[in-house]
Amino acid sequence: MLNSTKITDLPVVRGRYSENAPLGVKGWFRCGGAAEILFKPEDQDDLQHFLQNCPSQTPVHIFGALSNTIIRDGGLKGVTIRLGRQFADIKVEGDLITAGALALDANVANIAAEHALGGLEFLSGIPGTIGGALKMNAGCYGVETKDVLVEATLLSRNGRLITVTPQELEMTYRHTNIDQDIVLSATFKGIPESSEFVKARIAEIKTRREESQPIREKTGGSTFANPSVDDLTAAGLPEETKVWKLIDSVGGRGLMVGGAQMNEKHCNFMINTGNATSADLENLGEEIRARVLEKHGITLRWEIRRMGESL
Ligand SMILES: Cc1cc2nc3c(=O)[nH]c(=O)nc-3n(C[C@H](O)[C@H](O)[C@H](O)COP(=O)(O)OP(=O)(O)OC[C@H]3O[C@@H](n4cnc5c(N)ncnc54)[C@H](O)[C@@H]3O)c2cc1C
Repeated sequence: MLNSTKITDLPVVRGRYSENAPLGVKGWFRCGGAAEILFKPEDQDDLQHFLQNCPSQTPVHIFGALSNTIIRDGGLKGVTIRLGRQFADIKVEGDLITAGALALDANVANIAAEHALGGLEFLSGIPGTIGGALKMNAGCYGVETKDVLVEATLLSRNGRLITVTPQELEMTYRHTNIDQDIVLSATFKGIPESSEFVKARIAEIKTRREESQPIREKTGGSTFANPSVDDLTAAGLPEETKVWKLIDSVGGRGLMVGGAQMNEKHCNFMINTGNATSADLENLGEEIRARVLEKHGITLRWEIRRMGESL
């Protein structure tokens, strides 16, 4: 990878920088290139100091569990922030749950259940972190992150601490306006309920997902977002048509490019069957998009984030 950012150009920090650090292979897809520079901040103050003093032209990225991201094979230029365990605390006060950006969604759901708080069970089915859930407005079974979010604390690209509401984040289906900002933590509101009921719903979600999704594969969840009602209507399709039906209708189920395949069980899930490159995954997705555009006149929107340089 062509080096364009050097550690010597970056602020002196208490945390750790490493060069050419494996990144894509740490994600759910287990493929893709390295981070030009990886920064592991010591704590929130260290991260803030870094952002306040990092040259504005240096690209800065952040990830959680990389369960929704393809890192391209040529790696990611600039600095990639990797949060540590100190950003994964979960606190409960009354019916409010505050979780650090690196807390796993499933842990938040489980701790809510322990405290007899319902409404957050959907998080148990999403294998990412709270930072990723906010950025993506993650959701399942009819509930989205925005429905339970009270407020979030972010650091802007230049290190300013901000508290925002879901409205200010303009959260819509798998979308928010978070771009350069870094999520530090989020507060959710639960609904007081019997702990047993909440735990039973979490168990139900687990069973449902094991039956319908390839959750033990190298995957990134739904590849494409469901099309809008306007797009479906314009294409003369019923407004409840899900994206998997469109993929199925163009022969996408099981389709392979190199080591990448649209899953047989859930054809909107793309998987690395073993030796896929990130280019295989992306080319497979683009092949599906081209076929759906040709047949239905609908341009599918990638839900999986694709970042970095192609080889
Ligand atoms: C088996 C499987 C099932 C899935 N099922 C669902 C589902 O039902 N519903 C659903 O919505 N998603 C689902 N996903 C996708 C994924 O888990 C979610 O999008 C999740 O919210 C991503 O979180 P992450 O921490 O892995 O984010 P990453 O993939 O690490 O990052 C995703 C985006 O979030 C940004 N981001 C991450 N952390 C921060 C932060 N601290 N501050 C600012 N930005 C940040 C990244 O920059 C990137 O743009 C599934 C994925 C898999 C593998």
